Amino acid sequence: MATVIVRPELSALLEQTGALHKHLCPRQVLGVRMGMLAAEKFPIELPQSGKRLIAFVESDGCFADGISVATGCSMGHRTLRLVDYGKVAATFVDTLSGAAIRFFPSPDVRKRAAEFAPEAGNRWQAQLEAYQRLPNEDIVLCREVALNLDLEAIVGKPGKRTTCSACGEEVLNQREVMKDEQALCMSCAGEGYWRVKG
Ligand SMILES: [Zn+2]
Ligand SMILES: [Zn+2]
Repeated sequence: MATVIVRPELSALLEQTGALHKHLCPRQVLGVRMGMLAAEKFPIELPQSGKRLIAFVESDGCFADGISVATGCSMGHRTLRLVDYGKVAATFVDTLSGAAIRFFPSPDVRKRAAEFAPEAGNRWQAQLEAYQRLPNEDIVLCREVALNLDLEAIVGKPGKRTTCSACGEEVLNQREVMKDEQALCMSCAGEGYWRVKG
């Protein structure tokens, strides 16, 4: 007997993401719609409870929460990664097959929203309504891509730990950098985003 995949409804997913934020906004809706479209493109039941699908989101904020609710990808599961391009776009990768698809908004999505809901009080409201009701192809585009990243290195060996030989702090998931046969954390290796004050 064929397995029937029961997919959650848009309204249920929007309720969840809206509750996270105490509001619902157009970008959350776009994130949810992209996640739902991913559920049609990949042979994976979404929202997933496992770790098969990894999402690379290209901006943080409301959009990323929409993606997370619709796909089950999360930082906690190590299946949601931020690549901060400041774009409302995301690439999903099936870690089993290696297939990767990038989803991005149709370039004239704002215009379409304004045309779809001219009676809406303002542009924000028009987008909120239109992004929920327009068909996928009017708001989201997607294309197959190949990753420039080493997926295995990104996933790393969960559970593997090293101690930085300079600061003595623990480094997880193979994020250490080897220099002169010494394991260093990224900060001590000179790639840090912070420095000691003074
Ligand atoms: Zn928001
Ligand atoms: Zn260190």
